[in-house]
Amino acid sequence: MARILIIEDNPANLKLALAILHYAGHETLAAIDGEEGVAAARRERPDLILMDVQMPGMNGLEATRLLKQDTATAAIPVLGLTAFAMKGDAERILAAGCDAYLPKPYSHAQLTGAVTALLATPCQPRWGPLP
Ligand code: MN
Repeated sequence: MARILIIEDNPANLKLALAILHYAGHETLAAIDGEEGVAAARRERPDLILMDVQMPGMNGLEATRLLKQDTATAAIPVLGLTAFAMKGDAERILAAGCDAYLPKPYSHAQLTGAVTALLATPCQPRWGPLP
């Protein structure tokens, strides 16, 4: 069981992710935009972050870059979630520092599978500026 921070601006998507993670036995924290999400990650040091990519204001890629450039949060695995999966998305999301990504809509099994895999594999901190 892990403490998982979900950063997601869409209430329905947030509710779904919370329900799936609670059902899997995880403790959850939520933030509804990038700024709040970065602050929550720094304050709470969760075991894993689910990061929506498309958010108003600071988007998920910018928030991930900030977290991965900060030695205090760089080792927290980030699972990027994107609604409009397009060619090149995976590359962009991984280049921003996400450790894995999952296109939406995802199934219950896909989300829990991705979370379990990330929690089992400590991410390699990539110190210093990211592309
Ligand atoms: Mn969004």
